[in-house]
Amino acid sequence: MQTLAYAAQSAEQSLAPFTIQRRALRPNDVAIDILYCGVCHSDLHMARNDWGWTRYPVVPGHEIIGRVREVGSAVTRHRPGDPVAVGCLVDSCRNCDQCRKGEEQMCREGMIMTYGSPDRVDGQITHGGYSKHIVVREEFVLRVPARLDLARAAPLLCAGITTYSPLRTWKVVAGSRVGVVGLGGLGHMAVKLAAGLGARVTVLSRSADKQADALALGAAGLLVSTDAAAMAAAASSFDLIIDTVPARHDLKPYVPLLDIDGTLVIVGQVGPVAEADTTPLLLGRRRIAGSLIGGLAETQELLDFCAAKGILPDCETIRMDEINHAYERMERSDVRYRFVIDMASLA
Ligand code: NAP
Ligand code: ZN
Ligand code: ZN
Repeated sequence: MQTLAYAAQSAEQSLAPFTIQRRALRPNDVAIDILYCGVCHSDLHMARNDWGWTRYPVVPGHEIIGRVREVGSAVTRHRPGDPVAVGCLVDSCRNCDQCRKGEEQMCREGMIMTYGSPDRVDGQITHGGYSKHIVVREEFVLRVPARLDLARAAPLLCAGITTYSPLRTWKVVAGSRVGVVGLGGLGHMAVKLAAGLGARVTVLSRSADKQADALALGAAGLLVSTDAAAMAAAASSFDLIIDTVPARHDLKPYVPLLDIDGTLVIVGQVGPVAEADTTPLLLGRRRIAGSLIGGLAETQELLDFCAAKGILPDCETIRMDEINHAYERMERSDVRYRFVIDMASLA
């Protein structure tokens, strides 16, 4: 099936209309009409080859909400017309220890990402959600609970699960003290989800500009990370800090904010960070860790949790042809708090 999409042809070029071929349905496949696709900062990194592994042309997009159009002969989980979601991964070996325990993102053979990965069967490079349709094997297609607003749910599929997974891994519960560094797409979901779990949340931002937003999102306060006195006063006051900063930055100011046995989990920057100091790690048995999206079961758990709690991302809906401007704004942190493309605008 031919389908319309938006692609970058090189790191230097803007995204532009592009026609792609979606595969004919295999017995386990689900064909989806895409309704909405969120715009993740990773899309921007991949379009510009910031990580050095982009294969062009790249069709970004891994926060996908749509409706089932057609199913393969062996599909049992989904039916035509169902509202469904696809996140950052579309296949894995489904057989290794990690896949068996539902951590497909850690698959020993490597997960197949929604865009930019070779398909396990035919080797074709996958293309993501900046398109009208997608074909995905059924296990990697999630159910969207009836109570979730389809127009706002898309960012749960990456920004949501990427912040929910560390909250669950480090067992955040009512009363946990959680810090969130960087109030963007991931950061605002971290605030809503941690608050939804009953944690006391503090935003760490570069300025006080987002103070009112932080409180409205459910945080108890905002700490300006450039205010040395305020940072010193907050020493040893967090159990978990989720760092969403998308660029190389200094971790030194954040580690001492952790209490004994606290964890600073990096979900933003992929690659080098500025030099770290082990002293506060040793003295407080503090940890610096990383986390990558989340598995299928945990993503479904997140969708169900958000439906039950009425948690939805704060979205600015855009047209597909506004994507390059949206990237420029995202680079300036001028988005409150996630762009979502209305795919009806791509025709
Ligand atoms: P975003 O919407 O652009 O938000 C990033 C926030 O970080 C900004 O709002 C800003 O918050 C702060 N920030 C931006 N530039 C900064 C700088 N140079 N120094 C310090 N702070 C800065 O991006 P996002 O979509 O949330 O993605 C964040 C990062 O997570 C990206 O690198 C993305 O690739 C990565 N990511 C990782 C995973 C994973 O599985 N681990 C999944 C998805 C995305 P303030 O204005 O409040 O300071
Ligand atoms: Zn993402
Ligand atoms: Zn596996």
